[in-house]
Amino acid sequence: MSETVSSSAHGYQPERIDLPPLFAWPPRPLAAFKWLTMGLLFPWGMLWIAMAIVAWYFLTPDLSRMQSLELDWIMLIWCRNAALLTLVAGGLHWWYYIRKGQKLDTKFNNRWPATDDDKFLWKDQVKDNMFWSIVSGVSFWTAYESMTYWWYANGHVVWPTISDSPVYFIAMLWAVFFWNTFHFYLNHRVLHWKPLYNFAHELHHRNANTGPWTGISMHPVEHLIYFSVFLLWWIVPVHPIIIVLTGLFQGISPAVSHSGFDYLKLGRSIRITTGDNFHNLHHRFFHINYGNSITPLDWVFDSWHDGSEKGKAILKRRLRGRTA
Ligand SMILES: [Zn+2]
Ligand SMILES: [Zn+2]
Repeated sequence: MSETVSSSAHGYQPERIDLPPLFAWPPRPLAAFKWLTMGLLFPWGMLWIAMAIVAWYFLTPDLSRMQSLELDWIMLIWCRNAALLTLVAGGLHWWYYIRKGQKLDTKFNNRWPATDDDKFLWKDQVKDNMFWSIVSGVSFWTAYESMTYWWYANGHVVWPTISDSPVYFIAMLWAVFFWNTFHFYLNHRVLHWKPLYNFAHELHHRNANTGPWTGISMHPVEHLIYFSVFLLWWIVPVHPIIIVLTGLFQGISPAVSHSGFDYLKLGRSIRITTGDNFHNLHHRFFHINYGNSITPLDWVFDSWHDGSEKGKAILKRRLRGRTA
């Protein structure tokens, strides 16, 4: 059961964030199944999977070309990744921030992106975020993805075909969502180590008020760590669609979760979840919610802020425990 949290001057306040039913105790198998098939995947997870299939069959050079690292095929992958990111982040940005399609309705923060702030490149938050996302983010994403194909193309790992192991393939589609969010918790905890935070992660946190282009607006050192998510597939054999999906989920889903709005509202009846209040609270309070609710390691390590008074008490306790 969710409870509505009282509104404040900060902006729209969504419902309390509960632990996914998969992790409920005592177990709730039906609710867990419903969450695994719908809650986790609808609609965005399904979009990433569909995009991965299209990208692998129509927008990826043949693996036989990838035995040596050549700039021509790597650039094709860079262009594909940049285009898909622009489609999603640019589309959401257009609707929410240019057309202002739903004004401030379900926006977490009442302010619009900064246009005269020295902490951003060209004093403009959106331009700054686009620069770091495309120039550095897409490049690191493409480099890791390309090296993974190169590793497979040279026979270091033999990829299992879908027809030979269909169940394994389907299981690995799900595994991407759990592996990426598990990896995110770990790398994000490391990035909050003070020297690394000051050197790199602080750039992402300049965006207390996030937008779609904030998603992978990060320092290159953070990109180096963040996109290392691909390295698991250097030892665990997967179909290349899983490799594409790993990149799309890591590279594009943050555009949705950082969109700044809890719901995309189209007309009177269409309401699609976009923002991730769990991560939104991290941008607001720093010392809680290092991971995602999908892989609730914050619950285990007592840094889970659910948006309610209980979450505020956890934050206070954590702040008291800090020396710096
Ligand atoms: Zn963020
Ligand atoms: Zn952080």
